[in-house]
Amino acid sequence: MSDLTDLYQEIILDHTKRPRNFRAIEGCTCAAEGHNPLCGDEVKVFVQMDGDTLSDVAFQGQGCAISRASASMMTGKTQGRTVAEVKSLSSRVRVMLLGASSEPPPELGDLAALSGLRKFPARIKCAMLPWHTLEAALDGKVSATSE
Ligand code: ZN
Repeated sequence: MSDLTDLYQEIILDHTKRPRNFRAIEGCTCAAEGHNPLCGDEVKVFVQMDGDTLSDVAFQGQGCAISRASASMMTGKTQGRTVAEVKSLSSRVRVMLLGASSEPPPELGDLAALSGLRKFPARIKCAMLPWHTLEAALDGKVSATSE
């Protein structure tokens, strides 16, 4: 189990150091800002839509390692997906973090690295913030708070 924990930490560290899609999208279809008052994380998520598909997803902001890593992984996993697929993915991440399933579903890929946070309820809000913010953007809202 410790090997897996090490792997998870490595994945999170890699995304924290070299966040993917850390940029703004000029003239994007929708965007929202998220705030996690408990930790001070702030994230802005940009989405470019092509019909019902998220053709590009990017983020900016400042926050702890977990919120950054989660946002970085999220942008990679949601590009090229439909709104329905993204919402389903988001709810699977939530279920994984809240510990309702013992094993992270394989389709979550690198996102499984966040499953180690189950033991740290305060950090779950950090991990969910980018997802809440992305869903807010897709729902036409401009801001989200991690609850
Ligand atoms: Zn945080």
